Amino acid sequence: MFLVLPACQDQPRQEQVSKEDDRFDAFKDKLVLKFWKLHPEWATSQGYHKYDHVLTIPNADKRKAVVRSYKAFEKELKSFALNKLSDNNKTDYKMLQNFLRGGIWRIEEFKSYEWDPSEYNLGSSVAEILNGRYAGLSVRLRAISEKLRGSVDYYEAGIKNLRRPTLEHTQLAIAQNLGALTVFKPALADSIAKSDLTQDEKAVLQQRVETTQLAIENYVRYLQETELPGLRQGKGRSFRIGRDQFTQKFIYDIESGYSAKDVYEKALLRKKELHKLMLGVTRTLWPKYFPGKPQPAGLAGVKQMIARLSQNHVPPDSFLLAIRGQIPQLVAFVNQQNLLTQDPSKPLEVRPTPAYMEGVAGASISAPGPYDKAAPTYYNVSPLNKFTPAQAESYLREYNRYMLQILNIHEAIPGHYTQLIYSNRSPSIIKAILGNGAMVEGWAVYAEQMMLENGYGQDSPELWLMWYKWNLRVTLNAILDYQVHVLNKSQGDIIRLLTQEGFQEDAEAEAKWRRATLSQVQLSSYFTGYTEIYDLREQIKKKEGEDFNLKAFHEQFLGYGSAPVQYIRQMMLPD
Ligand code: ZN
Ligand code: ZN
Repeated sequence: MFLVLPACQDQPRQEQVSKEDDRFDAFKDKLVLKFWKLHPEWATSQGYHKYDHVLTIPNADKRKAVVRSYKAFEKELKSFALNKLSDNNKTDYKMLQNFLRGGIWRIEEFKSYEWDPSEYNLGSSVAEILNGRYAGLSVRLRAISEKLRGSVDYYEAGIKNLRRPTLEHTQLAIAQNLGALTVFKPALADSIAKSDLTQDEKAVLQQRVETTQLAIENYVRYLQETELPGLRQGKGRSFRIGRDQFTQKFIYDIESGYSAKDVYEKALLRKKELHKLMLGVTRTLWPKYFPGKPQPAGLAGVKQMIARLSQNHVPPDSFLLAIRGQIPQLVAFVNQQNLLTQDPSKPLEVRPTPAYMEGVAGASISAPGPYDKAAPTYYNVSPLNKFTPAQAESYLREYNRYMLQILNIHEAIPGHYTQLIYSNRSPSIIKAILGNGAMVEGWAVYAEQMMLENGYGQDSPELWLMWYKWNLRVTLNAILDYQVHVLNKSQGDIIRLLTQEGFQEDAEAEAKWRRATLSQVQLSSYFTGYTEIYDLREQIKKKEGEDFNLKAFHEQFLGYGSAPVQYIRQMMLPD
């Protein structure tokens, strides 16, 4: 189903373009092609398919070559006069500089290739080519065949890189590589049989697939038999990266104007504030839902109220329909309240998550990549038909009628989908491939609050309470990320934080703990971006007073594309 949004017109921002910009644009185009040559798997994932057949062998020579190239690119970048560039190019310049420095730091200092065995996995890049729709099956299979020639060398280089891996990443690598075998066993075999490759080509590919399976099995065995026993006795490296590396990684990955420590402190304050707000709303709602019953003191009352409101959910078979039905209502609300201009020409299709993407998230947006701009945007919703009735019930309670609206605001309108449309209008290949995750996620979280502030849901206390819970999750993600990696907090401390202060179920809290042991900094990105956007808006509001216009603020902010908020801030609010 294609959704047609109501019509409205709007001009993209006009910018002065200098000679320096022309030179910089040429540099960027050339640089991106060099990135693809250097990182074929990244190219494939971005929809650039010239190097699909190339397999990167992750050895020391490769790392040296990357560092050498990045240093040369950085030098070339410095030959441009930043102040002569357009806003669009200024932000691209800074994003590139940060990317190159971060890349060198990752190889020279962070060295996850030594301690994270899950970096070695042929499953995802092969699956990406196998499931691609950009070319006929035989073209894609020939690329896979060529790529798999190096599979033995690939895993051998991986084994050689490892030095005291962490127990957690080793267990993940075993599970994921066993999962990768399913790409090679049933899926690839089926496709080979169906294809019109010649008999010879089929035979060669089949042989390479078999060799790859053996290489994967050998890698898994190595991890299980050589690494795992020592790791189980505590001989591995800690998954906690510590204060110095966390602080540094935060700078490269989040590109925030705040430091990791600033964000942690802001998140602690926000947690307190949210608890206060939740207690207030619970007091208002209590007599309506529990007439004649005394309200338990403190957060226990909030917990009961949330459980009560969660019973209000849609039936399992209408989950997707409920989402579809809500999109036009969100579009209408944004227009009525004049929150920002929408583009009626870009369709959003709500669909069940395709099988090959399953197991990722309950709901996600698939946007067209930089080389495939005409493709539609999909809102993927995982169907509940594979759940047991108990699992479906628990999921539906989590995504109850209130949360479902917040989810749709976040994923679609005016969250991710709307932001993407604006981002595509200030075209920049750099922002398309290096888009700032904190800004993108931060915008979606900001959009939730902004809709509620403007009266979405008739200011219903129920909706506000659920949003506070949702926002608390984002806040706690930032808190626990810092507490795990910098402050050495135990699993018990984190589970207590999430269940007692975040109203989360045990299963959700356990899964979050696991995610915190396997990732670093990423969990902080949502809260950081959201806080930066909110702070920026409040400061501009204060400065402009009566002249402040919310729609103008949104459109200018989004017009810079998926750039880090600190750079957008430098342009919207120069010191
Ligand atoms: Zn129910
Ligand atoms: Zn999101």
